[in-house]
Amino acid sequence: MPNDVKADENWARQSVIDTALDLTRSGLSPQQSGNVSLRFGGDMLITPTGMNYHDLLPDDIARLAFDGTVRTGTRAPSSEWHMHAAIYAARPEAQAIVHAHSDYAVTLSVMHRAIPPFHYMVALLGGRDIRCAPYATFGTAELAALVVPAIAGRKACLLAHHGQIAFGRDLAEALKLAHEVEILAGQYWRALQIGEVPLLPDDEMTRVVEKFQSYGQTK
Ligand SMILES: [Zn+2]
Repeated sequence: MPNDVKADENWARQSVIDTALDLTRSGLSPQQSGNVSLRFGGDMLITPTGMNYHDLLPDDIARLAFDGTVRTGTRAPSSEWHMHAAIYAARPEAQAIVHAHSDYAVTLSVMHRAIPPFHYMVALLGGRDIRCAPYATFGTAELAALVVPAIAGRKACLLAHHGQIAFGRDLAEALKLAHEVEILAGQYWRALQIGEVPLLPDDEMTRVVEKFQSYGQTK
């Protein structure tokens, strides 16, 4: 492999580690329960399973084909690689993915609650609501198959009895959107404590979705 290609891959591996560390430091993924991946050269780079992110070196990041074939790396990839691969296969615009068991996303997900259009910022995730995918066992192709329709037309969804997953055009955007899902989940949960939550009408959400798209940037 030419040196510059190897350097690019090392840089990409380090950026996956940096994002995983951000995910942990920010409290978005208690007890390091989440995982991070990046589309790279037709494959994906993904955090390994069962390793402390603070100990990770670039070579610990697994490079996997979307069918799970390990291209390079000796560490076992995150058990959730099926879910990441299914999103990359279904959504060409997805360049990076963050999965997290963040507190309020989990709270709504155990109640099988989508996040409805209670606030216009829900549209930042691409649609009028943030759906909740039905439950399937973690780390299975069955769960991956449920996530693809739940995230259709969106950049994130909740996962019943599990957490949330978000993608972006790069690692920074995927992490930012995962944070946004958690903020909205927390705000919606608080509103639910008061009573029935009024929702924005569909035509207004359509307008806001278009406004966000025409801004062309969400950072
Ligand atoms: Zn998980």
